[in-house]
Amino acid sequence: MLTVVEALDAITSVVAPGPVESVPLAEALGRVLAERVDSDIDSPPFDKSLMDGFAVRATDVATGTARLVVVEEVTAGEVAEKSLETGQAIQIMTGAPIPDGADAVVRIEDTEVEIDQQQTLVRIDTRPVTTGQDMIQQGTSMRRGDTVMPAGRRLRPQELGLLAELGQHTLSVHRQVTVGVLATGDELVAIDRQPQAGQIRNSNESMLAAQVRASGAVARELGIARDNPEDLAAKIREGLDCDILLLSGGVSAGRLDLVPEQLEAAGVTEVFHKVKLKPGKPLWFGTSKDAIVFGLPGNPVSSMVCFELFVRTALRRLAATDPATPCPTAARLACDFEFRGDRPTYFPGRLENQPDGPRVTPVNWHGSSDLRSTADANSMIHFPAGNQLYQARQWVEVHEWAGRA
Ligand code: AMP
Ligand code: MG
Repeated sequence: MLTVVEALDAITSVVAPGPVESVPLAEALGRVLAERVDSDIDSPPFDKSLMDGFAVRATDVATGTARLVVVEEVTAGEVAEKSLETGQAIQIMTGAPIPDGADAVVRIEDTEVEIDQQQTLVRIDTRPVTTGQDMIQQGTSMRRGDTVMPAGRRLRPQELGLLAELGQHTLSVHRQVTVGVLATGDELVAIDRQPQAGQIRNSNESMLAAQVRASGAVARELGIARDNPEDLAAKIREGLDCDILLLSGGVSAGRLDLVPEQLEAAGVTEVFHKVKLKPGKPLWFGTSKDAIVFGLPGNPVSSMVCFELFVRTALRRLAATDPATPCPTAARLACDFEFRGDRPTYFPGRLENQPDGPRVTPVNWHGSSDLRSTADANSMIHFPAGNQLYQARQWVEVHEWAGRA
């Protein structure tokens, strides 16, 4: 049986980065950049005022007080015509270029304007003015030729703003992956039905489809396949049109756990079956010519955990996100916790930021079928195999749930 690390390695070595397409910037939120972006501009593109006030020569106001002749006004979008001489000021608005000859800005709150005969004067009364005050120099935030974004970056509003500043109106991104979700089981009924004796509602399909969407991929819900070869074969064939096919259930050792054999019959080659973890041990993973297939264990928490660890890794790999494997964080346990288990366990926990750092509380969890307790959790705590009494405040490894891959 593979360890979690070996299973993740197997996924990253079998899955290759997927195809790339061009999309308008307005449609690129949440997509993954396929090409590195270098700046072809300085930002800001010119020395610019950070305040409404007066552009001055700092040496004229070195003491903090001065009376200067106002020779021009420059607003954002304009360029001053005059070059500033000593004893002069140019009224300036936020965002306007600093006039030649000026090297500081005094904000309007520290000034008073006087009309004296034909002249407009500004009286300044403030702290000593230093060179560069209340202005920002050309190229402070980026210089032409700087690499501002690596390939593999998921595009959030701030990345889109930066790309817009660079004039990158069309972006090269990884094509969105389509993920089919197929539930299996004779006991399952649709979520709008009343289960009869022995039946349960198909909760995994909704949950997995939501996990797919939260990862930035497109979910195709394929419904329920019954535990017989004909129905499974037909629905698997339909699902293999997707980039990734997720099945839930039917991968354990039960008499009607027919998923592995039906996948093989459909041309999907097994890469591994069973991983040493809890919950999620029966996980099946394989590939066909065009699709990547996960047979997720049917128990809801097993499905969910396997998605977070393994399916997300495949999604990140398809989008060439580096690293593709999960990036856990560390937190202190909120309480003593007695762990018993012979497999590494991913235990639902509630992670909170406390003044003294991140803290995680194991929730009252009853095992792989107990989905309800996961609603009180926002993460999973990784406990290595082996019985151990963990102490409150001890550091543990935590994987945060939700958000994007
Ligand atoms: P299986 O892996 O098919 O043996 O299923 C393991 C457990 O998960 C059983 O108790 C199933 O009833 C349950 N289960 C399987 N599929 C689903 C599903 N789609 N939604 C909720 N529970 C499921
Ligand atoms: Mg089943």
